Amino acid sequence: MPEKFDTDVLIAGAGPSALVLATLLGQRGITVRVVEQRRDIIDYPRGVGLDDESYRTFQQMDLVEETLPFTIPHHVMRIVDANGNVIMTNNPQGEPFGWPRKFGFLQPLIDNAVYHGLSRFDNVTVEFNRELTNIEEIDGGVRVTVKHVTHEEGTIYHEDAIEHEYDGESQITARYLVGCEGGRSFTRKYLTKEFTGVTRPTRWVVIDVNNDPLGAPNVYLGADPSRPYVSIGLPRGVRRFEYMLFDDEPTERVEDDDFVESLIHDHLPEGTKLDIIRRRVFVHHGRVSDVFRRGHIMIAGDAAHLMPVWLGQGFNSGVRDVTNLAWKLALIVKGLAGDDLLDTYDVERRDHAKAMVDLSLTFEDLIGPTNKKIAFLRDQAAKVVNLSPQARNFFSDMKFKPMPRYGRGAVVDQETLEPGTAYKNNTRKKVARIFTARNAVEKKSPVGSMFIQPRVNEVPGVRMDDVIGREFNFIAWGQDPARFFTDEQRAEFKKAGVTLVACVSPTQTDWAKETFDADTVVVSDLTGELKKWFDKYAIGIVLTRPDKFVAFAGFTADAGKGWEAFKKAASLAV
Ligand SMILES: Cc1cc2nc3c(=O)[nH]c(=O)nc-3n(C[C@H](O)[C@H](O)[C@H](O)COP(=O)(O)OP(=O)(O)OC[C@H]3O[C@@H](n4cnc5c(N)ncnc54)[C@H](O)[C@@H]3O)c2cc1C
Repeated sequence: MPEKFDTDVLIAGAGPSALVLATLLGQRGITVRVVEQRRDIIDYPRGVGLDDESYRTFQQMDLVEETLPFTIPHHVMRIVDANGNVIMTNNPQGEPFGWPRKFGFLQPLIDNAVYHGLSRFDNVTVEFNRELTNIEEIDGGVRVTVKHVTHEEGTIYHEDAIEHEYDGESQITARYLVGCEGGRSFTRKYLTKEFTGVTRPTRWVVIDVNNDPLGAPNVYLGADPSRPYVSIGLPRGVRRFEYMLFDDEPTERVEDDDFVESLIHDHLPEGTKLDIIRRRVFVHHGRVSDVFRRGHIMIAGDAAHLMPVWLGQGFNSGVRDVTNLAWKLALIVKGLAGDDLLDTYDVERRDHAKAMVDLSLTFEDLIGPTNKKIAFLRDQAAKVVNLSPQARNFFSDMKFKPMPRYGRGAVVDQETLEPGTAYKNNTRKKVARIFTARNAVEKKSPVGSMFIQPRVNEVPGVRMDDVIGREFNFIAWGQDPARFFTDEQRAEFKKAGVTLVACVSPTQTDWAKETFDADTVVVSDLTGELKKWFDKYAIGIVLTRPDKFVAFAGFTADAGKGWEAFKKAASLAV
């Protein structure tokens, strides 16, 4: 093993997955080098839909003020038929994770804000014009070759880009390599030949325009068989149009303004002149790598999975990946966990990415038909489905979206306290035997799902994560969790970064602050949502991970055993 590696973590690519990962590692004091083949970060229009879960990660990154100006909260999505009748509305209500469920956003501006946020960390560098070209596995890490890339004259690059000049090739050693190089990832191809799934033959042209000539907010997916389209109102007066291209329309035609105007013509007031920002042609892929991690090498984001854009899940899935991975890598690099913890990244993220890919492909099938008979049948079926309020709510509340729920990984079975599995046996027989738990509304265990983030403390309240921190928490309802652990366990909490939290009704706050352990963070349940949550599952305490997923849930008397099981599940060495 080399005595010293050049860096703890090397990240290939500087797209959003890489930049978010670099931030989350930078915050934890890990040394990170990011190498990017381009001379800038990508500035052309891409993602437009951002989820609440991703925004919770932005909150963790302390980048809320920097990113919110490039978003519009509460983005509603409607699928309309050829006559403009709404077939389906997606307008999820509530803010269970502390943020509106869906934002409209401008990806290049958000990516740029995250990139600039990295200047806060002396331990993170981003090196442009450097392409990863070779990977060699060495004892305890990797040695990669990076080639200096000379760009063609006239390449458009971002005004803020930092340009590093290097000659020829050089080598970098790292304890861990994370490939975030997008769909053509060199690292994925090194790990596996299998990128299982489909590439759809249909091309779509994406056209972003300034000075939105329509002005109507929100998202319309036009299931129009004569030419399926998309029309989206975005921040800063930008509108996105997307149109399906037919086989006899060559890709180069999109450079012709008359052709573009003919595509959009039906959707614009007569005589409108378009202020086009950029146009690009895409095909959609639905693919998932069969491996996300081997040894000291991992992949994340588009490098690991590609999905059609309809549900706006590519960027979001990349953020989910790296939010899952960052805390694990940080613990391992700091010697607080064994390498096996990285296996849980693979099992936890791969199944969920597959579910998102499948759902995104289904949406393409829903809006894409150009056969009028098929489109007619779809529209009639939608009318029938919409007669049922339950079916309408299913779509409106986005219940079709598969929320991550980790059945295996760094979790503990609530029933058996078995490490590594969340609900092998999800009947919760033990809980049902206990009289006080008979009223549990939700029979499923919350283990493996994301913990809520309500507003807490005094009116108007603050988001709970801002009070309880960004590492592990044992969160108890109504009493001091400190009473349920041994001194030895509490010493381990200090090493692993576990903060104890007591949520209490506002009527109990003074008592709690006077009598609870000085290290316990007392949270006042301003909205009543915390009490409702603990009541729903009829439990008294949970262990949440730094990515805010529930790792253990149960009665307070089981909390100590829960911690011992979690140490095994997460290969903790504290
Ligand atoms: C039209 C369109 C609309 C979209 N809409 C949405 C949406 O609404 N919501 C959503 O969530 N997602 C959306 N997406 C998807 C989203 O843009 C991507 O999923 C996201 O950018 C992936 O981020 P990434 O960091 O994983 O990869 P990328 O953003 O692709 O970044 C990869 C980076 O790696 C660099 N690189 C490649 N090879 C190397 C190498 N060998 N060495 C060094 N660097 C390398 C590349 O230059 C690039 O900068 C959309 C995409 C498109 C095209």
